[in-house]
Amino acid sequence: MADDRSETDRHLMQWLRDAHAMERQAETMLTGMESRIEHYPHLRKRIAQHLKETQHQSQRLEEAIGRRGGSASAVKDTVASLTTMAQGLLGSMAGDEVVKGLLAGYTFEHYEIGSYRILIAAAAALGDIETTRILRENLREEEDMAQWLSSNIDPLTAEYLERQDQGSARAKR
Ligand code: MG
Ligand code: FE
Repeated sequence: MADDRSETDRHLMQWLRDAHAMERQAETMLTGMESRIEHYPHLRKRIAQHLKETQHQSQRLEEAIGRRGGSASAVKDTVASLTTMAQGLLGSMAGDEVVKGLLAGYTFEHYEIGSYRILIAAAAALGDIETTRILRENLREEEDMAQWLSSNIDPLTAEYLERQDQGSARAKR
């Protein structure tokens, strides 16, 4: 049974590293969106807030990795499938850039929620209370962001369409 325990340890470490790569990807996406959005200040402000939260999430993960005996320098993996998804959805060349951004954000937050729920289950299985605690902090921020996007995706899409109908140059982003 000692083998089972170390297998779970290895899984938790790998998943913490995956989550760290995910947060680095999130930071890149959010930085790009924050700098490009001009005419949707409400959205831009929420993105700026979540960018700060995302940077803290990366730090919490680095601390958890270190506390569990992993090295922060080994945290370089990229999640290729996520990068591809984000690039495909981001569509900064598209005329409906803000809508593509909402879709990418909504999708990404739910991916993060799933990732943290899995991580929390693994950390709890090992009885690692501190790691479980920081993962719950990250999860709550993702749920709040997902909820915000859920509440704002309809009005923002309507706003985009209305501006587009009026031929406004303020529609795109
Ligand atoms: Mg995050
Ligand atoms: Fe997030």
